[in-house]
Amino acid sequence: MRTLISIQLVILGLSQLSYAKYNVKNLVEYNPVQKCEVVAEAYPEAVSSFDQAGNLVFLKNGRVLYCENPSSYNLNNKSEYLAQLNDVSVSDILSQSYPDSYSAPVFKYNESPGRIRSDQVFLNTYLDIEKLPESVLGITAKDSFSSSDLNTLNRYLREEIIEVDFLGFKIPFNKRNSAAESLRRVNDRLLNEAPESATWIKNNRNMAGGFNLRYISGTNRLSAHSWGIAIDFTLKRASENLNFNDSYWKWVSRCIAPLRCPEPRTRGSVEARNQASEKELEVLIVEDRFDHFPEEVVRVFAEEGFIWGGHWHHFDTMHFEYRPEFF
Ligand SMILES: [Zn+2]
Repeated sequence: MRTLISIQLVILGLSQLSYAKYNVKNLVEYNPVQKCEVVAEAYPEAVSSFDQAGNLVFLKNGRVLYCENPSSYNLNNKSEYLAQLNDVSVSDILSQSYPDSYSAPVFKYNESPGRIRSDQVFLNTYLDIEKLPESVLGITAKDSFSSSDLNTLNRYLREEIIEVDFLGFKIPFNKRNSAAESLRRVNDRLLNEAPESATWIKNNRNMAGGFNLRYISGTNRLSAHSWGIAIDFTLKRASENLNFNDSYWKWVSRCIAPLRCPEPRTRGSVEARNQASEKELEVLIVEDRFDHFPEEVVRVFAEEGFIWGGHWHHFDTMHFEYRPEFF
């Protein structure tokens, strides 16, 4: 009997080990005002106060954002989802929960927690707004900046960027709000706690960008890389039996007939894929994603405040982004 119990405990222990939970906020239980408080806590440099009812959030640069968006958007509708991305209130940032473990992906339509961002919150956090000229203080997701405004923003951002040594790569990252410090901690922990995965990253990945002021391709929204809070580790094309194009949703959809790429895949033969329905193909693609980064890497990043683009419907498996509000 005792042997049976201890065997069960061993099995239980092992299964807990292989499906470690991240400590994430269950945002379903939060009302909009509470979500705004969480954002204010994660970005203390950005928020100066709330109005009494909690409807308005006053930022340090004098701009005001809604806590709860007066317009509500149906995320199952593509154009409404895009509208929300362009019209962000503070609580919208947390309108989707990050999954609580590697094995609990959120791949529902348009569910991409962290993809909704507020440029104003980032501007107030990741720059010294006292120094900024008026022309770039009013940035919102809707604005297309003139190239001279972008140059100005770039110049001020550069002052906040430092290089972080990360598994042999030099990663330009923002020093404010503990972003660079958290990335350094991920590096130290991977080397100590997950040396095999650390070696796997060194051998199989290229570092393709930390800080890089740019718009997300095909949009007028600034990428998270613009603030120096995200890194990409692309696959070295020839080094793995993984499809390079499967790293990013936009690359996959560029393949002939959606999701039917000719390169070798880790799951499902090319024939099987050619015969599969679009829905079945989507499942195969989702499963492939987990081969792009080992669980322990995704977990250590999460424990230091980084979300992984592999958990997004609009997936981006090379992308890790510092978003402490989710944890
Ligand atoms: Zn990225």
